[in-house]
Amino acid sequence: MIDYPVPIGRPKEGSAGLTGHWRVIKPVIHYDKCTKCRLCYIYCPENTIDLLEGFDVRIDYDYCKGCGVCAQVCPAKAIEMFPEVK
Ligand code: SF4
Ligand code: SF4
Repeated sequence: MIDYPVPIGRPKEGSAGLTGHWRVIKPVIHYDKCTKCRLCYIYCPENTIDLLEGFDVRIDYDYCKGCGVCAQVCPAKAIEMFPEVK
């Protein structure tokens, strides 16, 4: 994972556990459509999308709350929201 010096904190486990457990819908990246533009990484309000070598993006489901912002901003429509299966 690339450690960019962005002035925002990474999510951490809270007293109620991993915050991704609240999620009821889940974003899934279709990598065959992803253009590596990084908009999802920039706009995720939880800062739970990791930027990897080669500008690949990866969602950290331990902390993703399923807000859907990433799917809304993705210009390639590469992120699809699915009901969470618990
Ligand atoms: S659904 Fe929301 S919290 Fe989860 S990766 Fe997308 S923007 Fe971030
Ligand atoms: S916004 Fe969409 S196209 Fe851009 S990096 Fe994220 S998944 Fe890929």
